[in-house]
Amino acid sequence: METLKQRILNEGKVISDQVLNLDGLLNHQVDPQLTMEMGREFAARFAEAGVTRVITVESSGIAVAFATAYELGVPLVFARRKKTLLADPDALCERVPSFTKGIVTDIMMSRKYIKENDRVLFIDDIIANGDAARGLIKIIERSGAELVGLGVVVEKCFQAGARTIREQGITLESLVRIESLEGGVITFGESL
Ligand code: 5GP
Repeated sequence: METLKQRILNEGKVISDQVLNLDGLLNHQVDPQLTMEMGREFAARFAEAGVTRVITVESSGIAVAFATAYELGVPLVFARRKKTLLADPDALCERVPSFTKGIVTDIMMSRKYIKENDRVLFIDDIIANGDAARGLIKIIERSGAELVGLGVVVEKCFQAGARTIREQGITLESLVRIESLEGGVITFGESL
């Protein structure tokens, strides 16, 4: 997506060789028009997959997952970061390390909103080491639903997450691939 690349160049801030701040686009502020465009792109890429639910993890994945679900005409379910004892005792839970926060968080999804006959499209903001994605993939597997694929807005190719997930035979589509942040410069990779 050329428009997205341009916005990343204009608004992204390289924090280190590993981390890119995308607060202006994804993680703090959201541009509804650009987000709907991302949703249309994911919906087109997975148009033939028979998706029945889009899922994501709160909070940064929600906007683009909503846009995708809207385009596909299916519900969006977001896994919650567990902080309450009021949560459903029958929920599916996984513990995942958080790349940016440096802590471990528990994510949960109620069995009410993911069923065995679902065909699930998992949408997320950024993939780095893939820990968050692996946590949600485990939840989907335990639910009995079928994962039709994963769509991420930004794939950081210099970290192993996307590669290891593709090696598991899972379809992973990214809108933008970033090959390097070295020297404070954002270098994009080829689309796959
Ligand atoms: P992973 O579990 O793949 O290592 O990290 C995934 C999550 O960490 C993403 O959902 C994203 O919120 C956050 N994250 C990872 N790398 C970056 C980064 O370079 N910039 C920002 N803003 N968030 C990141």
